[in-house]
Amino acid sequence: MAVTREAVLSWVRESAASIAAHKDRLTELDAAIGDADHGANLDRGFKAVLTKLEGVGPGDVAAVLKLTGMTLISTVGGASGPLYGTLFLQMATSAAGKAELSPREWEASLKSGVEALARRGKARRGEKTMLDALEPAVEALGAALEGGVPFDEALWRCERAARKGAADTIPLVATKGRASYLGERSAGHQDPGATSAHLLLRAAAQALAPGAEPTP
Ligand code: ADP
Ligand code: MG
Repeated sequence: MAVTREAVLSWVRESAASIAAHKDRLTELDAAIGDADHGANLDRGFKAVLTKLEGVGPGDVAAVLKLTGMTLISTVGGASGPLYGTLFLQMATSAAGKAELSPREWEASLKSGVEALARRGKARRGEKTMLDALEPAVEALGAALEGGVPFDEALWRCERAARKGAADTIPLVATKGRASYLGERSAGHQDPGATSAHLLLRAAAQALAPGAEPTP
């Protein structure tokens, strides 16, 4: 099973739909430890991505990822736009010249995107950011594929690790981004960026491993 350009397009579209559906929840989470704009920021960005994708000509996987990253950077205000933009742009670089990605190439692309995001944000796991969902998710995906788990199941393991990573940000004290201004008072709330990161990886499982969502 390979990740085609069509599959990447459905990932981005599923992501946009999920962000739109959970916009208010993301904003509520950001209201608690930030400035209440995360849902609106991402929704504006992904809506702009959908419009841009209508005009996307024929091309490869990388063209879709690059357009998505560039649009997020130019339309999402706040920290999350450049960070998610970097993720998509690095994924595009990693996928350059490929008509489709094998499962291991998809994993390598996602991993390099997450690493670029971490460099851009100068952040590490445990700092109550999107990386707390993304890093364990990439690790779970890699471990699953390494162990011979079929791609569908590996994508859902990736989703579950992201969901757990996002929930595990609740007790953490933020040391990066706006939430860090709150110091100890940031503890007790789930990080909005880790929550949106989980939504993007759930959209990946839905788009790339279509079929019923497995019960945990
Ligand atoms: P802003 O904080 O500028 O209002 P958003 O509300 O859109 O931007 O995004 C906030 C999210 O961005 C946080 O919940 C966190 O997950 C993520 N974030 C902020 N700073 C960093 C960073 N340096 N590295 C990684 N993620 C970060
Ligand atoms: Mg914010």
